[in-house]
Amino acid sequence: MNRTAIYPGSFDPVTLGHEDIVRRGAKVFDALTVAVGVNPGKSPLFAPEERVELLRQVFADLPNVEVASFEGLTVDFARRRGARVMLRGLRTVSDMEAEFTMALANHALAPDVETVFLMASERYSHISSTLIRQIAQMGRDAGREHLRHFVPGPVIEPMIAKFAG
Ligand code: ADP
Repeated sequence: MNRTAIYPGSFDPVTLGHEDIVRRGAKVFDALTVAVGVNPGKSPLFAPEERVELLRQVFADLPNVEVASFEGLTVDFARRRGARVMLRGLRTVSDMEAEFTMALANHALAPDVETVFLMASERYSHISSTLIRQIAQMGRDAGREHLRHFVPGPVIEPMIAKFAG
């Protein structure tokens, strides 16, 4: 059986926490698509194409991981990819509440697509894209020094550049 999953999210930007979930997920599934959700109502820091490009750099060494963007319902994208699983990461009890609600809604929309959770690794469970956007605003040197504890290498300079000037 070919186990194909998608890992949907905003990835604005991709963090070490996301990277950890993808690397662990890539061992569990035959094929994994990291799916950048495009929400026309939101104004992200990185454009969808930029987020896709950064993710591709971070996962270039993983042959069974692809990166794509999508608009509309996540379950529809999963079906288009032939994926029966949506992978999500869980950090905290508050994640749990929101994720449970979303998993129930998605299951109502598409009973044939299952949501599967991986627990965040202890060392990354405090990391969020929101925190990283705040750190990058600290300025070039301090920002660069701190960011390397939170984001994969290819994200550091593009992140600093967003707040330079
Ligand atoms: P969304 O806007 O869909 O929540 P995110 O990019 O914030 O998108 O997160 C995508 C997924 O990755 C979510 O399931 C989220 O809980 C999970 N995630 C985010 N940060 C971490 C982390 N540090 N460790 C593990 N999972 C995480």
